[in-house]
Amino acid sequence: MPGAREQADFLNAVCAVDTKLSPEELLTACLAIETKCGRTRTPDSRWESRTLDLDILLYGNISLSSGNLTIPHGRIAGRNFVLVPLAEIRPDLHIPAPIDTSVQYLLNQCPDTGALHLVSSRASLLGDEII
Ligand code: AMP
Repeated sequence: MPGAREQADFLNAVCAVDTKLSPEELLTACLAIETKCGRTRTPDSRWESRTLDLDILLYGNISLSSGNLTIPHGRIAGRNFVLVPLAEIRPDLHIPAPIDTSVQYLLNQCPDTGALHLVSSRASLLGDEII
């Protein structure tokens, strides 16, 4: 049973997509999908288990920080459950400023030692761009 600030095990995945949506439109679409999948948000639920949590890690080589959207995602560098699957599909991908390095380099430097278990091999990547 997880204690305070601990989460139960969760399934994590990274995918690359082509989209005509702008970054803001993509965020709106992601939030709508989360809601459709039964996610509800409360001020206390941020660190609780979620039915679905969609994050925009990268959008081509764009860097932006607005009131409600930061790309590259603000916590990409400190999470091995993000970097490991991202490195599976695009290890040499350059992550733009303010990070400004490759996925593989970030993974090598990542201090996160959380346990990961591979549940599925990589899917084929359609196209060149990560969202
Ligand atoms: P969370 O559900 O805890 O991941 O937080 C979602 C909120 O983070 C969204 O409502 C966005 O306003 C904000 N956010 C900022 N940057 C991003 C990003 N790159 N991807 C997804 N959500 C983001």
